[in-house]
Amino acid sequence: MQIEQQKLLDRFLKYVQIDTESDPASDSTPSTEKQWDLARELALELERIGMKDVTIDQRAYVMATLPSNCDRDIPTIGFISHFDTTPDFTGANVNPQLVENYDGSTIQLGQSGKVLSPEDFEDLLIYKGQTLITTDGTTLLGADDKAGICEIISAMEYLIQHPEIEHGTIKVGFTPDEEIGRGAHHFDVEAFGADWAYTMDGSQIGELEYENFNAAGAVVTIAGKIVHPGYAKGKMVNSMLIAQNFIASLPESETPQNTEGREGFFHLYAMSGGVDETKLEYIIRDHDKQKFEIRKSRLKALAEEINSRLDLPRIHVEIKDQYYNMREKVEPLMHVVEIAEKAMLDAGIQPLIKPIRGGTDGSQLSYMGLPCPNIFAGGHNFHGPYEYVPLESMVKAVEVIVRIAEITASGKYRS
Ligand SMILES: [Zn+2]
Repeated sequence: MQIEQQKLLDRFLKYVQIDTESDPASDSTPSTEKQWDLARELALELERIGMKDVTIDQRAYVMATLPSNCDRDIPTIGFISHFDTTPDFTGANVNPQLVENYDGSTIQLGQSGKVLSPEDFEDLLIYKGQTLITTDGTTLLGADDKAGICEIISAMEYLIQHPEIEHGTIKVGFTPDEEIGRGAHHFDVEAFGADWAYTMDGSQIGELEYENFNAAGAVVTIAGKIVHPGYAKGKMVNSMLIAQNFIASLPESETPQNTEGREGFFHLYAMSGGVDETKLEYIIRDHDKQKFEIRKSRLKALAEEINSRLDLPRIHVEIKDQYYNMREKVEPLMHVVEIAEKAMLDAGIQPLIKPIRGGTDGSQLSYMGLPCPNIFAGGHNFHGPYEYVPLESMVKAVEVIVRIAEITASGKYRS
């Protein structure tokens, strides 16, 4: 497969220079007006390469169709990516640097004084001899996820220019506001009309993810009783001291800093209080559904246990589920993952399958009826000035998309 590297690169360099930072403080969709600039450009580009039914809705979601080129009954598949960049670091005036034939040494990031060094980022050494695209140290790059967008468009263009490659109907979807957790919120799964899809939003070449956390948020409110401290004997109830007891009763080994892989945790991420009332805010995470439920019960049982030793039930726990492990939705359709795995092997890539310690748009979409594993887009060090992407990884991602289309059309994936 001969992917046009220069075209892919030009497209990427153009898109990262359009500022699309999203904003969690905004209630509108897209959260920032400037995301329209790229959304409109993407719709135009999809038209230009020959995609059909290109739409852009009132919330800037862009969709398009590549019609099937054979008569057989083939499942409709989709590829999804987001065009916003994180509010964690500025994405305005991105000035990308090109490092050709990377020799494994330290890279100066423009005049910023910052360096990209294998001493800090060992992964760089995987890419010796390749072309790296970096920042100039003053902005993020936006490979998360403009790399994914370029890969999807380039793959569609390749399929259009190579009609000898058989494929079914392919849907493309580009969303705003993924970085503030809302990319899937207004995604019209029905209009998209795919049997399954892939988000091109992973990092290192080879990444393939179809497991993420089950997630809930818990607010623990503790009521105290305030009395003049000089005359408080037998009367005052200090809610902060009850809170201290509550916090210490949860195992320290089950915190984010002490867990990895498929180990779940309780994470106390905020607390505020006085004598009268204390509020503890937790997130609860576990890949295993049963263990996740046990964690939630455990938090409630702990409150009851402490309450039983108090003059009245002073601890109140409110738990809200946030998202679930997509594995539950993907596993009954395991060929969705197997196709991606095979596509990578065919492209000479070793698949790196691992559970995500977080959520993805794909997990939300999976529960909205669109099973949606996540595939690498190629970038590293997202959300900051050290972000970089090897051009060769982007080329490989294009190949993977094309191969997925081809394998799906062949029907040769049912084991
Ligand atoms: Zn992303």
